Amino acid sequence: MVWFAAGKRRIGLNTIGKVAVNGIDFFVDTYGRLEKEVQDCMTQHCAGRCSRCAQRCCRPHFCREALESPFLIQVRIRFAPEVPWYEDRGWLGAEGCRLSAGRPPVCYEFLCDPLIAGLGTSRQRKTLGRLAMLLTTAGKSARGRRHLVELSDLDRLNHERLARQLAQARAELGDLRQMLSDD
Ligand code: SF4
Ligand code: SF4
Repeated sequence: MVWFAAGKRRIGLNTIGKVAVNGIDFFVDTYGRLEKEVQDCMTQHCAGRCSRCAQRCCRPHFCREALESPFLIQVRIRFAPEVPWYEDRGWLGAEGCRLSAGRPPVCYEFLCDPLIAGLGTSRQRKTLGRLAMLLTTAGKSARGRRHLVELSDLDRLNHERLARQLAQARAELGDLRQMLSDD
């Protein structure tokens, strides 16, 4: 079992706070578009195994971060406003996660051993590992050392850093997609 980052430590730290919408629309839109593309690419390479998985790695406390993080709330409102929340199973439906955007980055980070072992080459394993970390990297240190999805309000973001990280993630996504399709 591999966690590609210390994403676990973030879970449960957020509280519902003041959501400053003005000035963050660019980041909500850019991050949400990036997430949807990361999700499409990961689904393409993981869905075969994940859709048959009897022991899904989804957990209610992961789901809850999507419900409580002011930034993820904005991404969900923008890209997946219709998805209902269920207290007993969060965003998880019979076919898997129903959130098409606004999932916690930790939901992308985790790749279980059987999933990794099922990939054909070490290059594929490494490439998928980098893809799994893309959203975590794109939103890191949004204010001080806190990740964008950890913040309880969206004031005083480091706009310059975030814009640079999002642009780098976008460029890397193109490379990773190409590498996965070449293998
Ligand atoms: S990553 Fe592994 S544990 Fe999680 S749903 Fe996919 S196959 Fe199951
Ligand atoms: S992938 Fe979706 S259902 Fe699974 S833990 Fe994350 S938010 Fe919840």
